Amino acid sequence: MDKKFASFKKSLERVYEHNKLYRDKMRKLNITPDDIKSEEDIQKLPITEKKDFFIDYPYGYYATSQADIKVYHASSGTTGKPLIVGLTENDMKYRSETIVKDLKMAGIQKGDVVQICLGLGMFAGGLSFYEGLRSMGCKIIPTATMSTKMQLFYMKELKTNVLISSPSHVMRIYEVALENGIDVKDLPLRIIRVGSELMTEKMRQKIKESFGDDVSVTQDYGMTEFLGPGLGMECEYGCGMHLNDDFYFELVDPKTKKKTNGNIGELIISSVYSEAFPIVRYATNDLVEVTYDKCDCGRVSPRILRFLGRADDMLKVKGVKIFVSQIEDFLFAHPKFNHQYEIVLNDDNYKDSLTINAEYHRKISKDYQKYLKEYEREIEEEFKDVFGIKSHIHIVDIKTIERPEGKVRRVKDYRTKMVPV
Ligand SMILES: [Zn+2]
Repeated sequence: MDKKFASFKKSLERVYEHNKLYRDKMRKLNITPDDIKSEEDIQKLPITEKKDFFIDYPYGYYATSQADIKVYHASSGTTGKPLIVGLTENDMKYRSETIVKDLKMAGIQKGDVVQICLGLGMFAGGLSFYEGLRSMGCKIIPTATMSTKMQLFYMKELKTNVLISSPSHVMRIYEVALENGIDVKDLPLRIIRVGSELMTEKMRQKIKESFGDDVSVTQDYGMTEFLGPGLGMECEYGCGMHLNDDFYFELVDPKTKKKTNGNIGELIISSVYSEAFPIVRYATNDLVEVTYDKCDCGRVSPRILRFLGRADDMLKVKGVKIFVSQIEDFLFAHPKFNHQYEIVLNDDNYKDSLTINAEYHRKISKDYQKYLKEYEREIEEEFKDVFGIKSHIHIVDIKTIERPEGKVRRVKDYRTKMVPV
């Protein structure tokens, strides 16, 4: 039995012993940990869904005593309550090692001046990076979520050469720099590592255009359920996120949860080394395309090439499924827009309507107002060709759309919800 599988097996035994909900699921299928004899057998185990964490809330999903917990992290849940995950001393040590692996893969080195613009609170991302950077011997500037102007001040004064942030916030920094007469290309930035939100390829191009082609822009995939960042990590080549071999990954059909034969499917993840909060066969809701080809960096681990969407990223408009990331790609490919947009959904007269408010790009002509209606109609036509549904496009002035300091909310859904009675 290899080391990884042996560790998984031990973890499964602890889940079976401590987690009543999962034990009941296994009993229903008439299996015990003894029936899982090889990696192949993992597929026989029941699926865990996000809602399971909220049934015996907040302690039901633990495989250790609460006395062993050293820190709690939390992320948004499904029931209005946050999902809370605790870590033991071993979990914290393991996570720190994972983050070091992640940071090194991004090209970050000892002595780098690293600014963290992710929240350093309950959210697992910011503090995980903080711990990893500490153990690597980097200089840390934990600006977290202070005003963008002040973050920029520290970047300039302390000569930040690595920025850790979310993609939308990176573009916000660019914008604030522009307003304050700072050319971000003059900053000594070498690496921008993003997480927290998904970065589309178009967004990566925008960031590179803004900060300079010589700045490496890569991303990371993680979730609080699995202790934070480090499930998938891009190397310096930025061509897909290498899956971390410390987990078991499966690709399944999102509906049937049966193994898919192709390279596209819903990602199912099982923890191997988590002590406090091990999860078996977690249905992530993330639809991904994976490649098994060798990367330019020489690594052979499978890579997530792209996200086809997240369940919470998918909109159903007039019966058509559209991912927010697809709309983003559409807008970002358009020279008339900058990076700020919002999607507004209404159901006037019981009919869905989709409106996109997008800010014009400062490079388009000053007298754009004259041709505004014409532009909007043109883009509506293009939208219909691409997505097959009608939209209302409004090109708005720069800085019209709200820019929160935290996570952005791109979709405003004002449609009447069906309430079960
Ligand atoms: Zn690589």
